[in-house]
Amino acid sequence: MPTGERSATSFLMQAPRFIGSEIYRRSRYGSKHPLAIPRVSLVIDLCRALGWLPDDIYIDSPTATPEQLSRFHDPTYIEAVIDCEREQRTTEAYKARHNLGANGNPVFGEIFRRPATACGATLLAADLLRDGGKIYSPAGGTHHGQPDRASGFCYFNDPVLGILAFLDQGLTRVAYVDVDAHHCDGVEDALADDGRVLIASVHERERWPFTGRISDPDRHLYNFAAPRELNDDEFGWLLHEGIVPAVAKFRPDALILQGGADALADDPQSKLSLSNNAHVAAVLALAPLAPRVLVLGGGGYNPYAVGRCWSRIWAALAGHEEPDLLPANAVALLDEITWSHSRGRRPPAHWLTMLEDIPHAGTIRQEVRALTAI
Ligand SMILES: [Zn+2]
Repeated sequence: MPTGERSATSFLMQAPRFIGSEIYRRSRYGSKHPLAIPRVSLVIDLCRALGWLPDDIYIDSPTATPEQLSRFHDPTYIEAVIDCEREQRTTEAYKARHNLGANGNPVFGEIFRRPATACGATLLAADLLRDGGKIYSPAGGTHHGQPDRASGFCYFNDPVLGILAFLDQGLTRVAYVDVDAHHCDGVEDALADDGRVLIASVHERERWPFTGRISDPDRHLYNFAAPRELNDDEFGWLLHEGIVPAVAKFRPDALILQGGADALADDPQSKLSLSNNAHVAAVLALAPLAPRVLVLGGGGYNPYAVGRCWSRIWAALAGHEEPDLLPANAVALLDEITWSHSRGRRPPAHWLTMLEDIPHAGTIRQEVRALTAI
């Protein structure tokens, strides 16, 4: 029986695994960059504090090699990123040709190793998922990366590499769902015309990169360009009326969910108004639809919101029950965050004491309902 025809139940049931790395604990994009905040390290620490991350399911990420990266990226570009790390500076040519050291893509200490580690995790996950299962890599989800240039804080595009890795295994139906506030332009540019790939994205309409306006079911392409202040109920509409039916009909062999946390109301970079219940709902609705599931991170620029949202994603994927109030060791981790943004000066109590956001229920606007009438 071909691999793609096997049913989900015939796959080895293995406990969900978590791929992380200590590189994210010390690496910063520079002191003033939106990514100069704890994210993956905080999620690891919170999940450990909650007893959700025993050593036998935690995997330390390898670093992708230049050869592995070249499955999608131009070797000249990969060399330029390595050179920037070695020299700790960019050049006018690198700026112009590769967007390195320009437009929000700074040269920093681990400019090659950090994104290459995120790619290494995604590639390892694809390999480990050959026989089925679920893996979480919150460092992944760098969906803006282009073959020969950095874009939108993304140097390499790990979702594209992950999709290609699944296809290279012989899978013929790979679904990619992206709930980041920004459209997944790098993934769409690379793979929208590949009939083996479904791409579905919910993103803020009036926001960089201003792509992702058009859906084309014939190409398995579903873009839900949402208005500002998208609420939980509206997200639920798009999820259950738009994304889930499309993915279910596609019957994917593998599903990648990009769980960017910048669509949260607490995030300073977007104007969407979701609570982290939206992300949990996405995991719970989508994970049962494929025998191989890889959940990635993505954007997210409020450390309290990212840490709590992405810990909840892991709980949803791995089946952990969340406490109503966090234990003291988890509260201490959130309490020691310093975030220079104005919203970080006096964090509200629930950012420190619970994982769940205050739900953002609301009316489902007609313009949101209309998005699923494709
Ligand atoms: Zn984003």
